[in-house]
Amino acid sequence: MQREKVVIVGSGPAGLTAALYTARAQLNPLVLVGPQLGGQAGITHEIENYPGFPEGVGGAELVERMRAQAERFGTRYVYSSLVEADFSQRPFYLKDDVGQEYLADSVIITSGASPRKLGVKGEEELTGYGVSYCGTCDGFFFRGKDIVVVGGGDSALEEGIFLTRFANKVEIIHRRDELRAGAILQKRAFENEKISFIWNTVVEEIIAGESGTVEKVRLRNVKTNEVWEHPTQGVFIFIGHEPNNHPYLGQITMEDGYIITDQYMRTNIEGVFAAGEIQDPIYRQVATSVGQGTAAAMSLERWLSAKEAEEAEKTEQVEQ
Ligand code: NAP
Repeated sequence: MQREKVVIVGSGPAGLTAALYTARAQLNPLVLVGPQLGGQAGITHEIENYPGFPEGVGGAELVERMRAQAERFGTRYVYSSLVEADFSQRPFYLKDDVGQEYLADSVIITSGASPRKLGVKGEEELTGYGVSYCGTCDGFFFRGKDIVVVGGGDSALEEGIFLTRFANKVEIIHRRDELRAGAILQKRAFENEKISFIWNTVVEEIIAGESGTVEKVRLRNVKTNEVWEHPTQGVFIFIGHEPNNHPYLGQITMEDGYIITDQYMRTNIEGVFAAGEIQDPIYRQVATSVGQGTAAAMSLERWLSAKEAEEAEKTEQVEQ
């Protein structure tokens, strides 16, 4: 079985930064990239709040730069996703979705989070047929169409604004009459002529037409309980995220599904660290993930050095 000193699970900003730092510490890290290089940042059209890029930078470009930078110092990448982990044995046992097994002395979990689902009828069946969770990925298919965006946070507004490049009309459906999004995005959305809002309303069902793609949504006003069918050709859902925690459930201490870490990015299992959105339900920024990835890598390096020194001392004592 492949034995590794450091395995980093995930390749978002936290993972790629942890890779850079552990590579520069000569630890020869292996990154299990996961389903999407760069995670959520990798499919973000434009990142305007990452320091050092006054004009903004495309998410794909930023993560490619991070990937190449970590590779330059010896990071290795495997394009698979973790499906199984056993932290009860040392070295730790890991298995990916192509059946490759690994033994790892230490692990940094940066598996991030995935878009939350609405959980309504039609959503799953019509994903890819008019239902989407990514404007950057799918916006182009909605040229000249009328679409709805669900959510009232930064993502909904940012993606809604982006989608006006393609769509004829973007209606933002929000369950309250007040947005969660920050002031700058709110101002931009309110000023955009292609955007309108449907307030105090939830989607109850997504309905396909004869062509098998989205034709309408069933909506309900949460204040009046009025229910009606609303024609639309696309449904973009941005209602937050769920941590990608499946392989670690029952093994690592979590709160609301997020891994708990201390100030050194340590989990409750010695030798297992976590960084980025898998342990951060609050900030979730590229800049904070980069900082957490740095801290996790530095803590791991110190832990590994101390452990190696301890083992060398033990061997010396036995030999004497
Ligand atoms: P979020 O801030 O958690 O907002 C989720 C939105 O979806 C909220 O408006 C929420 O409504 C709504 N919602 C949640 N569950 C729902 C359901 N079942 N049905 C209908 N609506 C539902 O998530 P986000 O917008 O993805 O942002 C996540 C984090 O990333 C935030 O910290 C955000 O600041 C950050 N972010 C920043 C930027 C930027 O700075 N440019 C861009 C994107 C994201 P309520 O408001 O009623 O709870």
